[in-house]
Amino acid sequence: MSLKEWLLEDIGTPRKSKSVSDAKTESDKTIRIDGIGKTYSRNGKETEAIRNISLDIRKGELVSFIGPSGCGKTTLLRMIAGLLEPTEGAVYIGNDICDEPGRDRGFVFQDFALLPWRSVRRNVETGLEIAHVPKSERKALVDEYLRMVGLENFADSKISELSGGMKQRVGIARALIVKPDVVLMDEPFGALDAQTRNILQSQLIRILKETGQTIVFITHSVDEAVYLSDRIVVLTKRPTTIKEIIEIPWERPRDRSSPEFNALKKRIVEYLEKENVMETVSETNEKQRGE
Ligand code: ADP
Repeated sequence: MSLKEWLLEDIGTPRKSKSVSDAKTESDKTIRIDGIGKTYSRNGKETEAIRNISLDIRKGELVSFIGPSGCGKTTLLRMIAGLLEPTEGAVYIGNDICDEPGRDRGFVFQDFALLPWRSVRRNVETGLEIAHVPKSERKALVDEYLRMVGLENFADSKISELSGGMKQRVGIARALIVKPDVVLMDEPFGALDAQTRNILQSQLIRILKETGQTIVFITHSVDEAVYLSDRIVVLTKRPTTIKEIIEIPWERPRDRSSPEFNALKKRIVEYLEKENVMETVSETNEKQRGE
């Protein structure tokens, strides 16, 4: 039995969230992953990381990818970013083939990737500078985005003075300020403690309501994936392909303490373990508890 059938037994037919059902038409599709594969060649050794992945991600949708370590999640995200060329197939954003980085895509990294010698303001401003936005317009924009991520009182702080959660808020503001169509997030909250992670997840949901951006999100945490996603794409071990796509039937924000939320989470964890997708359930649970 597939996970979808299994879930439907308990939960019934999913009610699609607004962002998904509103964006049904062909022209609304922002990302088309079309039969991509990636084989790395290094020192005469070939590693097939990704095999034949196809998926359409609709405008305004939050899709998360979950799968074992080393299965190729970052590889997949880098191909969508245009930072890495697929060996087979192609990625399209709208009608454009995605073969180089572009302003239509923003990236948020797990390790923040900030410029430590620059202030918070100057870090958030980086993308605007690259895009030649005049200095006079930059200040108001940076103020707006710092407010959005709750860092309005830290504009002049040094990066080294910030906590991990604050650094990642800077990373998010920096990615969003250039108003990309798509934000690619590679385990953005993976290095943070559980409480900070929960706060940033709620904040991301609030921001998404304001900006309506499409998010592609990589995570290890089933809890995070169920809390945030319209759809969760479960990846297999290498060579990675799609094992299952799980549509989450609830509007956001979601109630983590509800029995339905926990039942769905438990089912997914059990399924991942049964299918041997994740390392072990205990490891997944540890990550969810932030241990
Ligand atoms: P994940 O993000 O799921 O942990 P990655 O996308 O980082 O996985 O890596 C997928 C696989 O591809 C791993 O086995 C990794 O060792 C391999 N890989 C990643 N980058 C390279 C590279 N530049 N050269 C060779 N192999 C690589």
